[in-house]
Amino acid sequence: MAKITVPASDSIVRVRAVDTTLKLLCNTYPFLKPVIAGHEQINFSVVAFLVENKALGKTALFDVGGRKDYWNYSPSWIARLRRSVVGIRCDKTIDEVLIENGVDTKDIDAVIWSHWHFDHIGDCSKFPPSTRIVVGPGFKDSFLPGFPTNPEAFVMESDYQGHEMQEISFSDDFKIGPFRAYDFFGDNSFYILDVPGHAVGHICGLARTTPTTFMLFGGDACHFGGAIRPSEHVPLPESLDAQAAGLDDRFSSPCPCSIFGACHPAPTEEEKRKTPYYTASDHPGSAYVDAKLANMSMKGLGEFDADPDMFLCLAHDSALMEVLPLLNDKPDIDVNNWKDAGYKDMTRWRFLNELPKNNGERGRPPLVTGFWRYGERKETFDG
Ligand SMILES: [Zn+2]
Repeated sequence: MAKITVPASDSIVRVRAVDTTLKLLCNTYPFLKPVIAGHEQINFSVVAFLVENKALGKTALFDVGGRKDYWNYSPSWIARLRRSVVGIRCDKTIDEVLIENGVDTKDIDAVIWSHWHFDHIGDCSKFPPSTRIVVGPGFKDSFLPGFPTNPEAFVMESDYQGHEMQEISFSDDFKIGPFRAYDFFGDNSFYILDVPGHAVGHICGLARTTPTTFMLFGGDACHFGGAIRPSEHVPLPESLDAQAAGLDDRFSSPCPCSIFGACHPAPTEEEKRKTPYYTASDHPGSAYVDAKLANMSMKGLGEFDADPDMFLCLAHDSALMEVLPLLNDKPDIDVNNWKDAGYKDMTRWRFLNELPKNNGERGRPPLVTGFWRYGERKETFDG
């Protein structure tokens, strides 16, 4: 497998992972294909990343999670959430998490929205006017003006009013792997990648965590580790050390990986070990605006996933919550040492916990059921 080529540089950013506290339970069919029996609903946690360029004195946030007052999203979002979200809980907005843990929102120069969806744009009215909002190509044409000037709009004016908005434009002259790239701070420490397919203007982040290692913030370019893995370059081994791989207690160690084979749609044992479980959904009501393009993007992400110096972090991968030190309870700990710490190895196969076993036993239970407000069950969005 060819390594991903990135311009050489000693400029790095300090990266800290943030649990946005947003948890979702969704139907699987808008996201993944084919839906595996026993995995008809999918758990989503939402991770964000705080990116500090200490040399330049600049700080950016990649994604900001959701609103805790989710009943105050735009009417278009409320209607869509009622249709597609089974359970939602959000205890804090990200500005609260940051402030509680010693990060002043005044120090956030930029909030980068991987894309325009409700679980990534948070409530940016909580950030000072000096924080600019960074979006991908086509965002302004597609989503502005927001609600209520456009009553049908999903994004709200309050999400961006008073902030400068920067729409990234990419050039075909600079690519990293298969993706067009933009040097965000201008010093090769942090790149924005053009990774289309899920949503108009979908972007990813590529942070240089040491001169030769990188974290790829995947946003929703893919919604589940099992749509990237296993792959030809990252095959499922014959067996896994259950503890080292982070498999749940119900798995014995060593865990024979054949027990994850029955639910894999591929016809042969060889293909089951070298093909992802899922592709992007093209079902009516798919969450992917262009499933074919999304599958090409996922293949591209697979190239990064296969490179030992690259750590792919999908926004909704709950494994990251289990393994990474989080700003929420370890505010001073960054994740720049991910390679030496083994975080990639510890997260790689945890998605298997979500899938049914050979004996038909279901995977993980729902993270949330129903609608919650400040920890109390709420049946509807109203009131
Ligand atoms: Zn999302």
